Amino acid sequence: MNTQDIQAIESLLASPKKIAIIPHRGPDGDAMGSTLGLYHFLLKNNHQPTVISPNEFPDFLAWMPGSDTIKIYEKDKINCTAILQEADLIFTLDFNAFHRTGEMEQVLQTLTAPFVMIDHHQKPDDYATVTFSDTAYGSTCEMLYHFISYLGKKEDIDTTIGTCIYTGILTDSGSFRFPKTTGTTHRIVADLIDLGVDNTAIPSLLFDNSSYNRLQLLGRALQNMIIHPQYKTAYITLSQQELDEFNYIKGDTEGIVNYGLSIKGIDFAAIFIENKDENIIKISFRSQGDFDVNQFARDHFNGGGHRNAAGGKSDLSLQETQQKFEALLTQISI
Ligand code: 5GP
Ligand code: MN
Repeated sequence: MNTQDIQAIESLLASPKKIAIIPHRGPDGDAMGSTLGLYHFLLKNNHQPTVISPNEFPDFLAWMPGSDTIKIYEKDKINCTAILQEADLIFTLDFNAFHRTGEMEQVLQTLTAPFVMIDHHQKPDDYATVTFSDTAYGSTCEMLYHFISYLGKKEDIDTTIGTCIYTGILTDSGSFRFPKTTGTTHRIVADLIDLGVDNTAIPSLLFDNSSYNRLQLLGRALQNMIIHPQYKTAYITLSQQELDEFNYIKGDTEGIVNYGLSIKGIDFAAIFIENKDENIIKISFRSQGDFDVNQFARDHFNGGGHRNAAGGKSDLSLQETQQKFEALLTQISI
């Protein structure tokens, strides 16, 4: 953020405000961590913040401090629309285009209050009064740490805010492994641990929290994996019937796509998950090295994200989507 942006934020926050904070639809650890971290920071500074998530957040994030205060737009449209309309200021975190909020987009388009965007995805839209957007950061939570520091409020970061920030840094960096993990990332985490953030309990809450069903579903997903060594590619399909068989709940498929990359010689991994409710195939892409899955998702599957981690969707059937993907593999070089 430049000096002008910092001054603009300072003047927006100069007096107590009603503030809506919004993550993307299907919030992950970084979206939840950044929105809740900002929520606690704004509370501490005498504002009236409300986090409004477009849809339900996954169970494995329900332990996060403040998650019980989150309003779910798709479950309570009337109330959430009223909060959005009454807000003096709106923060959008961990996304940069209104369509990432699903149906909530229609409401966001009608609002006249100023927006602030904090995000690390490519190609931000132009809706915000202040846009803090930078793809160099590994997580929005790391950006939030800097954002609070730029405002001269670093001492406001306590264990509650730190817990939220740590969660997003941890999840979006693949436990500090992805290429955007820097010395600064580790220095921030070191500060958070010194503050009392529990770097043993949090990973355990996030990653040692599976149900037996989830592991069985993972087993099926791994059995379903198809590999094409000549394209350095591995992909997984999960049909709605398979999800039902293992009593799938939201969050159960989180991280499964990464298993493809753990195979020697594989640099491109994908997972195709059938969602009969929404009548789409939800897709996640991951890569190692130069292959740009963000571009691939934008070009072929109505999606986006980052160079090494992106997502998209398909309106075709699972089998047709798989055929389309197989055909594309012959045209790209990985
Ligand atoms: P995931 O595969 O974990 O859902 O998402 C990986 C990355 O891609 C995240 O940064 C996420 O925000 C982004 N992403 C996932 N799905 C979509 C999508 O449908 N559209 C866009 N633009 N980005 C997506
Ligand atoms: Mn993120």
